[in-house]
Order: sequence, then structure tokens, then C-alpha cells
Amino acid sequence: MLDRARPNDLRAFWMPFTANRQFKQAPRLLVAAKDMHYTTDDGRMVLDATSGLWCVNAGHGRPKITQAIQQQAAEMDYAPPFQMGHPLAFELANRLVEIAPKGMDHVFFTNSGSESVETALKIALAYHRVRGEGARTRLIGRERGYHGVNFGGTAVGGIVGNRKMYGTLVGGVDHLPHTHLPDRNAFSRGEPEHGGEDLANTLERLVGLHDASTIAAVIVEPVAGSTGVLIPPKGYLQRLREICDKHGILLIFDEVITGFGRLGTPFAADAFGVTPDIITAAKGVTNGAVPMGAVFVKKEIYDTFMTGPEHLIEFAHGYTYSAHPLACAAGVATMETYKDEGLLTRGSGEIGKYWEDALHSLKDAPHVIDIRNIGLVGAIELEPIDGQPTKRAFSAFLKAFEKNLLIRTTGDIIAMSPPLIVEKEHIDQIVTILREVLTSVE
Ligand code: PMP
Repeated sequence: MLDRARPNDLRAFWMPFTANRQFKQAPRLLVAAKDMHYTTDDGRMVLDATSGLWCVNAGHGRPKITQAIQQQAAEMDYAPPFQMGHPLAFELANRLVEIAPKGMDHVFFTNSGSESVETALKIALAYHRVRGEGARTRLIGRERGYHGVNFGGTAVGGIVGNRKMYGTLVGGVDHLPHTHLPDRNAFSRGEPEHGGEDLANTLERLVGLHDASTIAAVIVEPVAGSTGVLIPPKGYLQRLREICDKHGILLIFDEVITGFGRLGTPFAADAFGVTPDIITAAKGVTNGAVPMGAVFVKKEIYDTFMTGPEHLIEFAHGYTYSAHPLACAAGVATMETYKDEGLLTRGSGEIGKYWEDALHSLKDAPHVIDIRNIGLVGAIELEPIDGQPTKRAFSAFLKAFEKNLLIRTTGDIIAMSPPLIVEKEHIDQIVTILREVLTSVE
């Protein structure tokens, strides 16, 4: 029988976004999780400063969520989502609309962030076509944007390493510049001060280049997560909204990370006071317990599809596992947990301030050139050498794991997003370990 805690052969599983050859020499295996901690296969309790992968917002192993999944599995394992329904899918959609930014009244279910992005892009294209503007096919993303790994998302994404192996991907895509201005905005708390409007005005340049009549949508993460917690400067998102409105371009916020309380508000749209036309979400919708994604659209978009020719299915798109019963059960229990414990706004209160001060206390730690934070997310950027990324951040990740702390890294950036149930003593522990590891990396 397989020893679950110590598999003796690691070869068969081709691990995603992982240095397989290195990992398999020195594997890091997690076997259990509860609240703020993982347990490793060698029995250590590791403090989770990343909410798994930005998804376990209410902390691990929450009984209400676990029980809801177990009960649903026993009651009805699966129901086909095409031309059939089940009550929990409608209930979860209603719950989600309740907490969504005003006007985002309809939800399409997917199984991941990547699928939410593909779905949102297809909704944008189809919406224009239904309205008789089928020439609007161009999509605009942003440098350093991450929108998952499927073709559309990779194309609108702005991470060279994720794109360069795959040829031309999807045609008709252009990119805005990223919003990270470390020379002007280093050590910002919350939204950086400088450069927002100018950065957003580059959208006008792209409109001038391609003509508005060819552009379907702009997609951005309100805060770029995977590429290092890049918080847009003040005024940036407002200005993007204005330019999109002026030219009839749809604005999509990819809130796969920022949704469900990460910034101290239910969605980033609330934090920045800017409502997009479409929101993509995933991760926190089920607290990471069952794969699920969701795409929110504003009423006008849904109504446009619903007033099309009646003999057609309104939107030729969907997944076998859209609104999967287990995911819906997990989602409803997750929404109840967030609500009962006030988790979606916790990051904008005292604990968010404590997080901010604690992170910024590392300003004088070795190699640190920037620290930034908003809500319960934050990043520490280390100095590159001759403009090239170093291995310091990854080395800090390895050393932190040895010291029973889980963080994430990308290039020279350490990123953290603790579960929203985090307490001050956890934050103290995170900062103490980070200081130790930063002092010990070369
Ligand atoms: N969009 C954003 C903003 C993300 O952060 C992610 C995942 N980190 C995705 C899309 C893709 O989500 P998934 O890995 O669930 O496909």
C-alpha cells in the first residue's frame, strides 16, 4: 500500500510550475492542514503565510466547509450543468451577487482562475458581436499581468517566461505597461502616490494605434499578485475606467487573487472605488477546498445576451464541471464562514494596520529595496545584481521553510498573503523568521 506520508517514488507526477529535478532531490511534502498551519510529512507545523496559493482565505480545515462537502458528496455527487440545474448552484450565485460590487448581478461558474479568464474574454467578444460590433476583437492586457495558463490568459498575460515557449498564442493582443515604479514609489503603504494617471493614459495611445472600434476589452489584475504584489498608483484604475467608457471598451478585473477579502474589502473593485464590467474570480470562492471559479458580469451584459434570438443557446460556452455540486456546497459554506467571522473586511481594520507596520519594520533588513502592502497581502523586494534577478528570494523561501514558515517568491520578490484569520502573534512570527532568513542569505 502507498505510504501517503512518504511516497518512495516521485517520478510519475510531473509537477506544475516546479523545478521537478531539484524538487525530487529534496521534496517538500505537506500532509495535513489546520487553521494557520500545514503539517509536513516529517511532522513539523509550518505557518502558512500564503493561504496555500492565495486561496485558503478562511484558514485550513474549517469544519463547516468540510462537512458541507462531505454531506453533498453523499447526497448527490454530480449533476449535469447543461439544460439541467441543482438548487445549490442558484443559491451560491445569489450569495456571490450579494457580496459583489453593486451592479455585478450575474455569475457564470468555471473550475479555476484560468477558466474564468477564458470565459470572461469570450463573454467580451460575444457581447460586442451580439450588439452588432463584431469588429471589436482585440484584447488588451498588461505587462507583468498573470491571467492563468490557458491560451487566452497566457496571451493577455505579460510574463515573458510563461509566453515565449508557445509561439503566437492568440492574435490581436496588445499590452499596457506594468504599474511598478520602484524609483518613485518604493516603500509605499497601500496605494502608491505617483504616476497613476500617466500610466493609465497609455491606454489612449493603444486606442490611437488600433482604433477603438477594434478593441473588445482591457483585462488587468487590480493588484498584480503573482508577479510580486504590484499595487497600482492612485488614480490609475479610475483613469482606465474613464478611457474604457469613452471608447466603449469593456473593463475586466481579474480578481482571482484580490477577490474575497484579500485587500480588506470583498473585492478590489470596492477597495479602489472602480467597478469593472466583468470580474473573474476563483480561489477564495471555495476557500481552496474544491476547484471552482466564477465570472461576474454586470446586468447590462447579461441582459444583452438574454435579449438575443430566442432559438439559440445564449452563450455557447460551459464546462462539464461548471457549478459542480461539491464546489457549490463548499462555496455556500465558505460564504457563510466569511460572513459569520467578518473576514472579508478584516484586512482593512486593526489587523491590516498591524500587518503593514510589521512588514515595514523589515525596511532595514539586508538586501531589501522595497516593501509594499495592502489589506492582508504584502511583498518584500530584494536588490538585483547588475539588473539581473538573484536567487536570494528563493533561498529565503527554502530557509524559511526550514524554519517552519511558508512564503512565496517570484524573482527577487517575496510575496505573502496569510489567511484572513491571521492574528498578531502569527504576524510577529512571520517577521521574526523573515528577518533571520534575510540576514542569513548571501
Ligand atoms: N488570474 C490570476 C490573477 C491569478 O492569480 C491566477 C492564479 N494565481 C489565475 C488567474 C489562474 O488561476 P488558476 O491557477 O486557478 O487557473
